[in-house]
Amino acid sequence: MMSAVTVAELLREGRRALAGGDAPVFETELFLAAAIEGSRADLFRAPEHVPAASQIERFRDFIARRSTGLPAAYILRHREFRDLDLIVTPDVLVPRPETELLVEQTLALADAADAPLTIADLGTGTGAVALTIAHSRPLWTVYAVDISTAALDVARANALRHRCTNVAFSQGNWLDAFNGPPLDMIVSNPPYVTTDDPAFSTGETRHEPRLALDGGPDGLDAYRAILTQAENHLKPGGRILFEHGALQGEAVRRILADHGFIEPATVKDLAALDRVTHALRPA
Ligand code: GLN
Repeated sequence: MMSAVTVAELLREGRRALAGGDAPVFETELFLAAAIEGSRADLFRAPEHVPAASQIERFRDFIARRSTGLPAAYILRHREFRDLDLIVTPDVLVPRPETELLVEQTLALADAADAPLTIADLGTGTGAVALTIAHSRPLWTVYAVDISTAALDVARANALRHRCTNVAFSQGNWLDAFNGPPLDMIVSNPPYVTTDDPAFSTGETRHEPRLALDGGPDGLDAYRAILTQAENHLKPGGRILFEHGALQGEAVRRILADHGFIEPATVKDLAALDRVTHALRPA
């Protein structure tokens, strides 16, 4: 007969299997908590608890899949982003902590929280940016745009889950099919990884939709495409905010200036890396 395996032993087993990964301890706890349908706190309350055989099997299956490099968010099918727990599928990019800066800046730079602004989030994916903004600003109307209908299905499911009723969804290549009202703000975390980046063949990124990450030969194709369309939809005096790669701040400011935007400014993320650049359309 197989000897009983405790929570403490399973945690050790998982940590060993995931050693060398990004966060072996934290991820093992997430997997075990999910497998026993409990919380991480439950694990520490009862380390000698012996989970049911089916739960242990589930945990070991999570760990085995994670060991192949599949992102934890695709295995657990969700990820927290700011104040929302979001459904995540392989049809969408896994929300990244650094993208919270894009949301913070958008909220901080809007004149007044009580003005009914209209904004668009281009390339919404899970809806992380659009939904956390909409959730924080119930009086705003947020258009969540994506070219991928599969991604829009995920974003819609997330909106339903969090009862975000001030979000509208629109399928299109950036703003080419957009027929909403003139916009006060445009925000986007577009694909900005260069096509030849080794992360596409080695990193976890290889499991994520290439469409959401590949920004072309210099990683900047999406900024040029969005800015070419933006003047048809952004109000004079309106603001645009972009996430970008740590080494792309200067290039994004230059592209903004090339398209007639003024006062470009770059903001650093928590790792002190250039991450968000915003600018104004002249009034
Ligand atoms: N920060 C992401 C990465 O390096 C890229 C996100 C994006 O292209 N929008 O994996």
